[in-house]
Amino acid sequence: MDKHLLFTPGPVNVAETLRTAICKEDICHRETDFDALLAGIEHKILSLFQIRNRERYRAVVITGSGTAANEAILSSVVGDGAILILSNGEFGGRLHKTSVIHNKKTHLIEMPWGIAFDLPQIATYLSKHKIDVVAMVHHETCSGMLNPLAQIGALVKASGALFVVDGVSSVGAEAIDMEACNIAFVSSSSSKALGSYPGLSFVVGRKKQFKRLKHHAAKTTYLNLATFYAFLKNHNQTPNTPAVPLFFALDQALTDILSEGVLKRHARIKARADLLRNGMRRLNLDFLVDEADMCSVLTTVHIPASVSVHDLRAGLRDHSIIIYEGKGCFADKVFQVGNIGELSDDDIRYFLATLKDVLLTLQADAADLVTPVRPKQEPPTVLPVPADLRVVS
Ligand SMILES: *Cc1c(COP(=O)(O)O)cnc(C)c1O
Repeated sequence: MDKHLLFTPGPVNVAETLRTAICKEDICHRETDFDALLAGIEHKILSLFQIRNRERYRAVVITGSGTAANEAILSSVVGDGAILILSNGEFGGRLHKTSVIHNKKTHLIEMPWGIAFDLPQIATYLSKHKIDVVAMVHHETCSGMLNPLAQIGALVKASGALFVVDGVSSVGAEAIDMEACNIAFVSSSSSKALGSYPGLSFVVGRKKQFKRLKHHAAKTTYLNLATFYAFLKNHNQTPNTPAVPLFFALDQALTDILSEGVLKRHARIKARADLLRNGMRRLNLDFLVDEADMCSVLTTVHIPASVSVHDLRAGLRDHSIIIYEGKGCFADKVFQVGNIGELSDDDIRYFLATLKDVLLTLQADAADLVTPVRPKQEPPTVLPVPADLRVVS
């Protein structure tokens, strides 16, 4: 099979160290080898989060992609209480859809995709309703917008609710200060900014909150966080058969990140995003979200008029480059370029040169079809605002 450069927010091109790690010896997950492996992974995850009072936090690892960790949180933390989902995109929508299945009292504050939350509106909502848990996506991958953890964490704290966060696409690239942002539980996965293979996810949480989970009636068996916590605490194991080779790879990915240094790693990903963004700006492309609000893992770009996202994606694939198409209300309007995983600066330059060629070819084809005389530059596409601000309870 041909090698592809994955300019996506995940899955990513993995490092050679991980290809070696995944082929380690066969071990049994009910033996001390696995206990040590899991303990090592947990220790490294807590180091990745740079938690100061680390004895107050624990991390459980789940065999399943990021959605499994989110569903574990949403099915295990709320009990009979009320949860408020804050959504401004596809993944916030998924949190809502999942919560509705598990929690009768699911509230929703929904903004159009790619639009920032209105903090006073959230504060007012929390003062008028009895809410026990608030859930939000940190990096809304559908738009590339980073939602403000500290500010929303403070509002949630003032209301007395628990704050739970989907950090699937930001952990490993952006700092998440669980203590300062008042986060009770955060989810993430192996295959995004951590740079490992897909198939594992994890939940980091305050020990005090993990302990309280046993008081809630279980709404799932496989994804019950209380069970994961009990097995971790009592045996350093997982409740069911884990995907052991993926644990070896995740352990290696975390080792690599920690030996580089967490902050250095964040800075390196950001520098790569800057290289990519500067290059795309030179091609007269413009971005969906203000750069100040963007996560450093991914850039969401307006497709130039006369070019279809589908053709652009196919054209790039012919040169072994994989990008994402916008989904939902962004379909045919934007494309997304990730910059995580094993991509070098040379790969970024190759991407920019190829993007330029493919766009020029597609625009020339369109010009031949439409009119022989074309303006030098098309105006940027303006996205329609998808839906009115909606508050549903
Ligand atoms: C990728 C992603 C998920 C999880 O998706 P999976 O299909 O389970 O990998 C959840 N939330 C966000 C923000 C994501 O980017």
